[in-house]
Amino acid sequence: MNTTNQKHIAILGSSGSIGTQALEVIASHPEEFCVEVLTVNSNAELLIAQAKKFKPNAVVIVDESKYNLVKEALQLDLIKVYAGEAALSQVVQMETVDIVLTALVGYAGLKPTIAAIKAKKTIALANKETLVVAGKLITQLAQENGVNIYPVDSEHSAIFQCLAGEWDNKIEQIYLTASGGPFLGKDVAFLKTVTKAQALKHPNWTMGAKITIDSATLMNKGLEVIEAKWLFHLKPEQVKVIVHPQSIIHSLVQFEDGSMKAQMGLPDMKLPIQYALGYPNRLKSDFPRFDFVNYPQLTFQQPDLKTFRNLALAYQAMEQCGNMPCIMNAANEVAVDAFLKDKISLLKITEVIEHCMNTILYNNQPDLEDYVEADKMSRIKAFELID
Ligand code: MG
Repeated sequence: MNTTNQKHIAILGSSGSIGTQALEVIASHPEEFCVEVLTVNSNAELLIAQAKKFKPNAVVIVDESKYNLVKEALQLDLIKVYAGEAALSQVVQMETVDIVLTALVGYAGLKPTIAAIKAKKTIALANKETLVVAGKLITQLAQENGVNIYPVDSEHSAIFQCLAGEWDNKIEQIYLTASGGPFLGKDVAFLKTVTKAQALKHPNWTMGAKITIDSATLMNKGLEVIEAKWLFHLKPEQVKVIVHPQSIIHSLVQFEDGSMKAQMGLPDMKLPIQYALGYPNRLKSDFPRFDFVNYPQLTFQQPDLKTFRNLALAYQAMEQCGNMPCIMNAANEVAVDAFLKDKISLLKITEVIEHCMNTILYNNQPDLEDYVEADKMSRIKAFELID
């Protein structure tokens, strides 16, 4: 047990965009937070620098070939060093950890999140794929263990903030806002020609490579629709998407009386990260403030599901439920990775996903092993389609 009032945080994925911004939030609130665990996939140099600054109890480097490098560098700091993927699921269970921030990319977040929930740790969820892949299992497990899952995704944080004080009031529907990404208003002919550099240039948000490509194809919004369904216990038809290119309104809730609440502010991931870690308190920040004069117009339009078919596929996967979102997610992860390696075009990502959804065996009552199997089969099929 911890003896101070500080919340002790484990950050899974501390070298990524969310991880580094979370450390900025923690550094500016030393009386509220301290770092208990840091983990990275392979960026040993950054892990060492972060560990020397934040003095965690333990660190994990998933890439085992870099264990000795990290171990030697941190020897005098008396920080425990572990390596390998299985260590992620172990460090989250440490008694001194209060909150686990899951900022891993993709399916890799699933197992450590399950371990953290079973150890009754509060989850600050930045890894949306976990809920996409196994939302039913995760939400049931959280309920059984009395664990709260606080969203870090900006749209879901917005919904969560709008729901504060409204827990007994029924939601009619929610609107997740989408910037539309760098190719808003473009047609299929244009999408055929786009390069990786163009797709990586998001108009409003600075994010990791995978999520930036997902934003360009609208798959990110598709993943978020499924994430929202599970986080807020909604039916598929209650989750709407509206394109809002300025990214000032981060999402909206409409209640049964027709009233709508929105949460707004400049697009900055540090705010939702800080809200999740500090909940239920709002902590003072010096983030840049919104100025109405700079935004004389906030505009809205329907998403173009014919051009950006990934969002339509995600709605389809959400309706079908079972292992279909898991199949979709695995195919998308493989295809996006191939696009980032210049192996396939942007539009091919959609083809790969659709093909996997149409051919991998559907199961409407999957358990954890079935999810693992569906993920594996979908990846194998996706790789075949790319080569
Ligand atoms: Mg988001």
